[in-house]
Amino acid sequence: MKVDGHCFCEFVTYRATVNPEQVYVCHCSDCQTHSGSAYGVVVGIVDEDFELLIGTLKTYSKVAASGTVRALTFCPKCGTRIHASTVGEGTDFFGLRVGTVTQRDQLKPTWQSWCQSAQDWVQDLSDIPKV
Ligand SMILES: [Zn+2]
Ligand SMILES: [Zn+2]
Repeated sequence: MKVDGHCFCEFVTYRATVNPEQVYVCHCSDCQTHSGSAYGVVVGIVDEDFELLIGTLKTYSKVAASGTVRALTFCPKCGTRIHASTVGEGTDFFGLRVGTVTQRDQLKPTWQSWCQSAQDWVQDLSDIPKV
C-alpha cells in the first residue's frame, strides 16, 4: 500500500510502501514517553520502501528496555517522531510512526507488543465518557 506523510510542521514529508498487516501498538515505556501518550502505533517497513521527499531527519539513539540501541528519527524543527530502527541489526528495517501517515485511517493495528508495561486503562476505552 502506497502512503505518504509528514511531520507536524511539514518540514519533513515522505512517501512509503507499507503492509497494513504489519501495523502494531507498542506499549513499551519508551514509546509512552517519547510519544507523550499511552502507546506508540507503528508499521514495520524496510528502508528501501521509505523515501524522504522534503526536509532532513535528526537522530537520537538510546538503549531501550530490551537492551538494544534504538535510533529514533524526528523532525529537527517540530520534534515529530518519524521512525525508529535498531542499531546493529542492519538499518534496513524500521518502525514508521503511523500518526504521521496521511492514510492512517486505513492502518489498523493487528497485534500489540510490550503489553506488560501497558497502562491498565488502554485496553478498554468504552467506559470512559465521550464528548
Ligand atoms: Zn516538523
Ligand atoms: Zn515501543
